[in-house]
Amino acid sequence: DETSATERPVINVYSARHYDSDRVLYDAFEASSGIRVRFREAGAPQLLETMKAEGSRSPADIIIGADVGAIWRFQEAGLTQGVHSDALTEAIPATLRDTNGHWFGLAKRARVIVFDPERLTPDQIDTYADLADPSLRNEVCVRSSSNIYNLSLLSETILRDGADAAAEWAQGVVSNFARTPQGGDTAQIESIAAGECAAGIVNHYYWVRLAQSESQQQRDIAAATALSFPNQDSTGAHINVTAAAVAANAPNPAGAVAFIEFLATPEGQALLVAETKEFPVLESVPLPDGLDALPAFLESNIQLSDLGAQQSEAQRIFTQAGWD
Ligand code: FE
Repeated sequence: DETSATERPVINVYSARHYDSDRVLYDAFEASSGIRVRFREAGAPQLLETMKAEGSRSPADIIIGADVGAIWRFQEAGLTQGVHSDALTEAIPATLRDTNGHWFGLAKRARVIVFDPERLTPDQIDTYADLADPSLRNEVCVRSSSNIYNLSLLSETILRDGADAAAEWAQGVVSNFARTPQGGDTAQIESIAAGECAAGIVNHYYWVRLAQSESQQQRDIAAATALSFPNQDSTGAHINVTAAAVAANAPNPAGAVAFIEFLATPEGQALLVAETKEFPVLESVPLPDGLDALPAFLESNIQLSDLGAQQSEAQRIFTQAGWD
């Protein structure tokens, strides 16, 4: 009845994800913990503005973002708190969580190269550096540089190779643009299938979702393209994560930690990645349908909590290079 419902413990989740499967995930947590889940879904920038406006009276217990660059903006604004959990320390590799417990990576995505196998050979696009090679003149499609996925990718380049090398790479890719940056990751795959360009940069799951689609047209788009996992002989592919943070003013911080711990259990992991087609962070969890078709690949082992501080430099480099 209503009385007991309002007396049950509650957590408020502010999530930048938007998947029907997350409802199933919340229900499963409720069933196992007795903690009711209320959620608000919106884009990360909008959630950030909401939390800033709410200040210390924010009802948010948990923030979920897709990309450490997005979650770092909450941390930078003082909207997260450091928490310690033995379960999370044990379950999640150290490179995939904040060193001070301000956020925890729970599902992995690889930022990879998508290409037209009729126009390029795999060795032409087996490194990120290849995208800047003059042999790809007028052949590269990308999305906007303000997109967090591209900012995080360039942030890793800055950390590994320095700002000058990162700027040189960005300028080389801009020189290879087939068109001005536009659309999301899926649009890059569509443009390649349509023959507008031969290569682009996407998170792996966008291609997997097309390949797994119920729509024949979408499956045809995936079939006309291929993925290359870059830098397999060096740094590994750029990895990012869906991450969860405990809000600075969480009314129920213990409930918030319990929720993140649930996401790092085999049950929570399977629900978290089933629809998104991300990789679980727990190696014992089976891959969701469709990921088994991808090759095993080397992942970058960079400490993801180092990326956020490079974000403004990354944007400066992109803008200077003319990558809108
Ligand atoms: Fe995405």
